[in-house]
Formats: sequence, structure tokens, C-alpha cells
Amino acid sequence: MAATATPGMHMATIKPCTYSSRKVFKSGTAIFNTEIKRASWTRLASSSHISSTQPLFQNFTSTLVKLERVVTKAMSEPSDNKPVSGLPIDLRGKRAFIAGIADDNGYGWAIAKSLAAAGAEILVGTWVPALNIFETSLRRGKFDESRVLPDGSLMEITKVYPLDAVYDCPEDVPEDVKTNKRYLGSSNWTVKEVVESVKQDFGSIDILVHSLANGPEVTKPLLETSRYGYLTAVSASSYSFVSLLKHFIPIMNPGGASISLTYIASEKIIPGYGGGMSSAKAALESDTKVLAFEAGRKHKIRVNTISAGPLRSRAAKAIGFIDMMIDYSMANAPLQKELSAEEVGNAAAFLASPLASAITGAVVYVDNGLNAMGVGVDSPVFADLDIPKDS
Ligand code: NAD
Repeated sequence: MAATATPGMHMATIKPCTYSSRKVFKSGTAIFNTEIKRASWTRLASSSHISSTQPLFQNFTSTLVKLERVVTKAMSEPSDNKPVSGLPIDLRGKRAFIAGIADDNGYGWAIAKSLAAAGAEILVGTWVPALNIFETSLRRGKFDESRVLPDGSLMEITKVYPLDAVYDCPEDVPEDVKTNKRYLGSSNWTVKEVVESVKQDFGSIDILVHSLANGPEVTKPLLETSRYGYLTAVSASSYSFVSLLKHFIPIMNPGGASISLTYIASEKIIPGYGGGMSSAKAALESDTKVLAFEAGRKHKIRVNTISAGPLRSRAAKAIGFIDMMIDYSMANAPLQKELSAEEVGNAAAFLASPLASAITGAVVYVDNGLNAMGVGVDSPVFADLDIPKDS
């Protein structure tokens, strides 16, 4: 990212892609502005009014408009050093450590991009067995296209740290892992050592993102899951967050924020998400609340988790039913559109920013609203109900 950029994130217009006869909002470049008087309470039940360069509220009552793929993008300002107007997400001067990036497909990458677009410096923790290929791909420019930020600059990753979040310190690492050839070329990758390295290199961080999960028996129903499979899922997917936060907190600046990624299978039955992974996500959500209290009281750090909808990431493809879940969401969620990783990235950037300074201990759903549904409306039993649908 260009050093001269003056980043700030805004909601930005994305091109219309499909047509529909349903009434929908037509998005413009929205600017949040507390001083605009013309928006009334009847239009918007908030004291922070939304204005728009294409008046946004006119569309609340608009007649038929094109159905837009409502994707908001992190957008850095052009590098003219002008102060950013409105209410931007401004993370300039903040440093983020994102654990769980090994390619450009997953939520971690998208979160890194949104944080970078808002001005944060990006450090990454990559799982040791995936490190070599990730670093090589990065060096060879394989990700250059997806590194492009809204202002045209490329996301810079200041440093990639090898990490295995299942191990807290070197004494925890079993012999077979130590001598495994995928680990032999790397060092200092336990949680404690990574944090020590970050401290040595940079002194402190402001934002911690946990975007990793692993469950060796994820394809097995819970009733067929072994103790090993279950406990490994919890260790890799939930305790790893506790451990990262516990070790990072002493070098997190007060006012900092941490974010993890969870999934609705923690609270509702999702057949196919097995091996104790549903239990691990339930633990992660419960820990989010307890850690919000402990980290808030002692260190003024906020702790939130994003319950994200389905995304075709490498990890999700390995589970084997991701396409089904995406189709299901398209058919049943209040918003009929495919969820983009950027939408989760942008929510994370907001949660990490001072704009979310009173939000902690929260599970924030970024899933097109699927979590709110009590039934699957694509069931044949609803055939006679006139439920609006996109073809
Ligand atoms: P992903 O494959 O991009 O990310 C998972 C990452 O975890 C990978 O980079 C992998 O290398 C890393 N990892 C695994 N074990 C590790 C360990 N022991 N130490 C360090 N890193 C390790 O896939 P994703 O789907 O973007 O997953 C990111 C997060 O989002 C996960 O918590 C996942 O459960 C959550 N999530 C995903 C979806 C989805 O549909 N993809 C939905 C909701 C929540």
C-alpha cells in the first residue's frame, strides 16, 4: 500500500448485477453524517443520519429498481492527503496480527485487506505446514491480483510469522511434530514464541484476528467422533484463541480489539459439521463473552466474534458440503445473494475500529441474515405461500 495513501473505509457502490421486480435499496456512496438535518426519525430511526451522494433515503421508498448485489467494499481514499470526510473507518497507526492466512481465499485474507484498506499495518501468522507455499506464492506474485486495495495500491504484509496455534510453548510440542519435515525448516512457531517475536520486532499490536479452525474428524457425526478428534477440534479452533489472546494481551495497546470467526453450527443443528467442530464454535462464542469481561476490565481490550455465512474457502471445501450450504443460504436467507469474504472483512474492520468502541462480548452475524430464519423456506410445505424469491 502506498505510503502516501490516506485510507478510510466507506460504503461504496457496487455495480448492479441481476434484475428483479422486488423493491430493494439502491446503494450509493453512503456518508454517515451526524449533522445532516434533513433526514427525519420517520425515515431513519437513528440519531446518526445517513446521507448519500445519490440520496440514499429516496430509495427507501423507491419504486422498482434493479436488484443489486449489495456488496460493500473497503475503500481507501485517493492519496491526496485530504482529511477524510464523513465517518470513515480509520485504522491508520494501528497494527494487526491476523492468525490463519495461508492463501487468498479465506476470511483471514479478506479481513487483512479490509484492515489494510483502513490503514492498519498487517502482520500474519501462517500455519507451519502451509507456510512454504504461502510465502512462495506471495513472493512470486501469485496473490498480486487479490492484493489490490480499493485505491489501487497493493496490500502490504509487513511480516509473516510461522505459527501452530495448537502449541503454547516449545515444551508442549511432541517429538513427532518437532521432527516432522514440514516443521523442520521453521522455528519459534508456538504461540508464546510468536508473541515474543512480534514484541521484539514491533513492540505492540492493536488488533488480534483469529481466523483459524481445524477438526480432524469434521466429516464424522458427533456420535462417531473420538475423544481425540473432539478435543483436537476444541484445541485448534477454540483454545487457540484463548491462548493467542492471553499471550498477546500484554503487548496489546489499551483500546485494542480482538475478533474471531464462528459459525451458526454452534447454536443450531447443521448436519455435516461434525467431529466436535460445532462444540468448538460453541466454546468459542461462550469464551468471547467471558474474555470480553476479563480483557475489558483488566486491559481495556474488546473481544467479539463474527458468525459468518458459508464461504468457499480451502478449509470449507475440505469439509465437503460448502456448495450445498451456499445454495441453502441463497434459497433461504432474507438476503438472496452469495456472501462475499469482503463483507466479513468490512464488518471485522468496523469491529476493530474505534467506531465499535462500545461493542464487546458480541456474536455479530454476517450471513445475509440466515441466522434469523426459523424454517427453510425452500421446503415444499411452503409451496403455496407467496414468498418473494429471486429466480
Ligand atoms: P481458511 O482455510 O482460509 O482458514 C483456516 C486457516 O486455519 C488456514 O489458513 C489454516 O492453515 C489455518 N490453521 C489450521 N490449523 C492451524 C493451526 N493449528 N495453527 C495455525 N493455523 C492453523 O478457511 P476459512 O473458512 O476462511 O476459515 C477461517 C475461519 O472462518 C475459521 O474459524 C472458520 O471456522 C470460520 N468460518 C468459516 C466459514 C466458511 O464457510 N468458510 C463460515 C463460518 C466461519
